Amino acid sequence: MAAVIVRNGLVVGPESATVADVLVVDGVIVAVGEGLDAPSRSREVDATGCWVGPGLVDLHTHLREPGGESAETIESGSRAAAVGGFTAVVAMPNTEPALDNVALVTYVLDQGSRALVDVAVAGAITLGRQGERLAPMAELAALGVRLFSDDGTGVQDAAVMRRALSYARPLGIRLAQHCEDTNLAAGGSMNEGALSSRLGLVGRPAAAEEIMVARDIELVRLTGAPLHFLHLSTARSLAAVGAARDEGLPVTAEVAPHHFTLDESACENYDAHYKVNPPLRSRDDVAAVRASLVNGWADAVATDHAPHAAELKDLPFDEAPAGMLGLEHAASLTFEALGSSSADPIRFFALLSRSPARIASLRHGDARVRHSGHGGAVVAGEDANLVVFDPSARWRASRDRLQSLAYNTPYDGRELEGRVRTTIVRGDVVVDEGVLA
Ligand SMILES: [Zn+2]
Repeated sequence: MAAVIVRNGLVVGPESATVADVLVVDGVIVAVGEGLDAPSRSREVDATGCWVGPGLVDLHTHLREPGGESAETIESGSRAAAVGGFTAVVAMPNTEPALDNVALVTYVLDQGSRALVDVAVAGAITLGRQGERLAPMAELAALGVRLFSDDGTGVQDAAVMRRALSYARPLGIRLAQHCEDTNLAAGGSMNEGALSSRLGLVGRPAAAEEIMVARDIELVRLTGAPLHFLHLSTARSLAAVGAARDEGLPVTAEVAPHHFTLDESACENYDAHYKVNPPLRSRDDVAAVRASLVNGWADAVATDHAPHAAELKDLPFDEAPAGMLGLEHAASLTFEALGSSSADPIRFFALLSRSPARIASLRHGDARVRHSGHGGAVVAGEDANLVVFDPSARWRASRDRLQSLAYNTPYDGRELEGRVRTTIVRGDVVVDEGVLA
């Protein structure tokens, strides 16, 4: 019998939080209460002053395997996830080749079953992410795939997207769109505006994102199929999705930490670490993305963890690939955006665990895809995927400590507030005192 007792933390449920102990035996929470007796030889985790909640769930992780193993592997990415407090990640399908068939999805699920955290897979919507012919979504759904996306690009053809939504609905799966009109955004490497003109860089206009958001809301209205909006970056995108949700349309949205932390002025030194897609936006957009965390326009925070080999990020700004690391700093950046010492722990876990688990259908364990249940209430009977987060910790991000194989983070050296202290996956303490066990 393997037992862990998490002592004296603020146990954060979906609606309330109370100080209690959490006893885990053989991968399952067996008791939550004050002054619990633990079996002899239980591992003790002191969580005094800390939040104890469901393990974090990332809807948007680029694990780069297959095809990009010099930047990240399923194994290294899962270590980065665990250090970041994540107990489950959704591997995005824009690998080389794309995850658009049974053999490749099975490969990633097999590798993922040996990883430190649960690895779910998003399948491609179209073959090769070419936006033309639908991938075999029914076959992939039969493997347990619940989320589908051509992320990296959006499905450009409205008729193809409509067909995909119509096809998805009876399968009980959810599509996730990277909203961007590729023609409008063509050749752009940062946000379009006065700054891009001054820097002599071609811009990607906010409208490139907003046009596809508006189109897809109409396609959801037409088909009744649920749709998840990936990494929304503008005020108008978020307002449109918020209004659609108020109408009762089955839409959900995620925002990424860099879009509520950094604005376009970070690109001024032509440092490609600040190049992402969608790009860092105007100050007003950043304020709106930050507000979406509390006004409910955003359902979830997702990292868009995008590792790249160092030699690629050293290229000139307009030639370097877009994307930055996300897993190891997302919890702290979200905590800061929620107001640090005044942050609401219930909202924190809603954004980083409960909503993403629901959107990715990871709430309950699924033996076919070998994952356990995530994002639940911290109560007896739930799978023991837990995180202990210290809201009073101050620490300095350092690229030397990254578990990711890549180093492309703009946060190197940055002072951060709040820190993941312990991560428990299926009852095992995989991270303790912020380092891998
Ligand atoms: Zn994307």
